[in-house]
Amino acid sequence: MNTGYIALGTNIEPRENHLKEALRLLKAHSEITIEKVSSIYETAPVGYTDQADFLNMVVHVHTSDSPVELLDKCQEIEQQLGRKRGVRFGPRTIDLDILLYNHENSKTERLIIPHPRMHQRAFVLIPLHEIAPTILIQALGKNVKELVRELPETDIKDVRIWMKSESVEE
Ligand code: ADP
Ligand code: MG
Repeated sequence: MNTGYIALGTNIEPRENHLKEALRLLKAHSEITIEKVSSIYETAPVGYTDQADFLNMVVHVHTSDSPVELLDKCQEIEQQLGRKRGVRFGPRTIDLDILLYNHENSKTERLIIPHPRMHQRAFVLIPLHEIAPTILIQALGKNVKELVRELPETDIKDVRIWMKSESVEE
């Protein structure tokens, strides 16, 4: 059995539904079990800031899938949820990124593990820290707690708990 961490994010309403549907669809696969969910955080957009706030969370999974099989399932879920009914190229309503898979370091055209931007993103590190503070990101030689400590104060205050993990149905 392999262990993985997946980050979920959405900024199109109904945001909570999109997260819950994504969890349901992940769990519907017999190859994936959800071990732990973080709280849901509301976060200010980063980069292109002229858009609505996000809801973000991180889940810990056990899976018999290879990394690329897991990516296929994540992308299938993005497609299932990401298309507005009837609109062929509707906006994407959910993003699923594989953060970590065991302690692998790998880089292919489709998949980079650990996720290459995770260490800079408060909206990823803070929920990950909630469920796995001591996990080591081997490529960086640092654990999650250390990476959170390196985040700018201003980024940290843009990430607020929106729903506590115990209220998130699994
Ligand atoms: P982003 O998540 O950066 O906003 P996308 O979700 O559109 O952008 O992903 C773009 C591409 O990133 C995907 O087609 C996927 O193949 C690739 N990718 C590389 N590494 C990962 C990873 N660890 N998790 C998810 N996607 C990844
Ligand atoms: Mg993505």
